[in-house]
Amino acid sequence: MATTLDIQRRLVALGYQPGALDGIFGDRTTEAVKQFQRARNLTTDGIVGPKTSAALFGAVVVAPGPTGGLVPADWMPAAKMQRIIVHWTAGAHKASGLDRSHYHILIEDDGRLVRGTPSIDLNQAPVRKGYAAHTLGCNSGSIGVSLCCMAGAIESPFAAGSAPMKRAQWETLPKVLAELCRRYGIAVTTKTVLSHAEVQGTLGIKQRGKWDITRLAFDPTVHGATACGDAFRTATKELLS
Ligand SMILES: [Zn+2]
Repeated sequence: MATTLDIQRRLVALGYQPGALDGIFGDRTTEAVKQFQRARNLTTDGIVGPKTSAALFGAVVVAPGPTGGLVPADWMPAAKMQRIIVHWTAGAHKASGLDRSHYHILIEDDGRLVRGTPSIDLNQAPVRKGYAAHTLGCNSGSIGVSLCCMAGAIESPFAAGSAPMKRAQWETLPKVLAELCRRYGIAVTTKTVLSHAEVQGTLGIKQRGKWDITRLAFDPTVHGATACGDAFRTATKELLS
């Protein structure tokens, strides 16, 4: 359980102004909590309940808002990052603890973002203990973004399994990619913003038959690693232009 002082320190770290760091939950602290809640689309009551606490300290669920700033600034610490690799979890529509351990940012079926356990800067070259292991032989300098879906899916003949990819999460992906590209100065090219399925062909690093992302469960007209990759690259470039 976080103390009032913990909450005040955390608010300051995130750029809010709770007043004096005195451990007293006064008006200014309440107002700072409300501002934080508004920014994260949480109930604006000034009370640090379970959801606000999770958002403050672990940063779990964030509802995508129309105001931009979809990815919270504190999820994108300073680091030198070369590329972004896009995955699906091959899990359920909601991020499990195991899912969170492998990626930096996860996108659930309704487009909500969940922060992975490893911080992006742990994957800066050379990787540090606790880094996100998302792509065999290619984790160094790579940000891992994953759509929560495709548990039990079969590549051929294609079957989407029990958690088919949803359009909402696919459409959220370019927004996340654009913010990461802007933050880390990554250009959108086939070598720098690519899916796991493209890594072997494009970067020449063997991946043991990974096929994320070669199919869009909601749109059978788009299939193949390049077609899927080109789709999110084009959408990301449009957002950045
Ligand atoms: Zn993958």
